[in-house]
Amino acid sequence: MIGTSLFAGMVERARAQALPQSVAELTRVATDVYMWRSIGHNTIFIVTDEGVIVSDPVGLGNPRSTQMFKAAVASVTDRPVRYLIYSHEHADHATGAAIFSDTLEAVVSHRLAAPKIAARNNPLTPLPTFLVDSQASITLGGRTIDVIYTGRNHSDNSLVIFYEARRLMFAVDFIPVESLPFRTLNDSYITEWIASLKWIEDNLFFDTLVPGHGRIGTKDHVRRMREYFLDLMEGIRAARRAGLADNSAAMTASVRTALTPSYGRWDNFGPYLPENIEGVIRMMREEGIS
Ligand SMILES: [Zn+2]
Repeated sequence: MIGTSLFAGMVERARAQALPQSVAELTRVATDVYMWRSIGHNTIFIVTDEGVIVSDPVGLGNPRSTQMFKAAVASVTDRPVRYLIYSHEHADHATGAAIFSDTLEAVVSHRLAAPKIAARNNPLTPLPTFLVDSQASITLGGRTIDVIYTGRNHSDNSLVIFYEARRLMFAVDFIPVESLPFRTLNDSYITEWIASLKWIEDNLFFDTLVPGHGRIGTKDHVRRMREYFLDLMEGIRAARRAGLADNSAAMTASVRTALTPSYGRWDNFGPYLPENIEGVIRMMREEGIS
């Protein structure tokens, strides 16, 4: 009978592995701020006496996920969702806000996100109705949050949500916490990305950093992300000085050796490092950096 039960266990494991990913999690991260995580994507919402402010609908991966998000908001408050803020226009974060259209007063994005969202022509993704150039404040139910453009970085239209009263910032895709940024850094601007991190370090004061993926961090992770890019660029330069060709296996090995002591434990260091090298070299060429 031992053999039979062992076999049953193996079948059970195989069935479990075949199930689709359906991870959803609601976490209170401050008195009136909740983080919603769905299929590897994080977003936040803020509850006030007069309604709710939500950020990204994160509804691309599973058509039911925005229903779950709306139900998660309703699980903590009866107030209607009044404002929705797109962190940037990338479809995995921005799709699905139509679920909240019945009560929304405004959909907020950076000005440069609007034509890109319009071009996608997705009925699940309502167009922005309030466009931000550099900064805007949203006040609802006696609470104020700031929506701030810190320059081009992971996209040309990334907005952060800064909730000064709770010393909390929500920033998507350009400050992953102890994790390498995504793959070849498409759509990005390395010089301004580094500058946007420095601007946040110098100007915004907070204890809690909620990123668009992965674990919650602190303000110190902004500096660490900036230092990662500087160290990566220096690693590329050192490999070039040693005569190694751009994107060669030898260059990757050299940069990996240089960065492992500081960043070897970060998520995705193994798979993404060669692609981060490729992306940074591409941007250094585009931006005329040697
Ligand atoms: Zn993105």
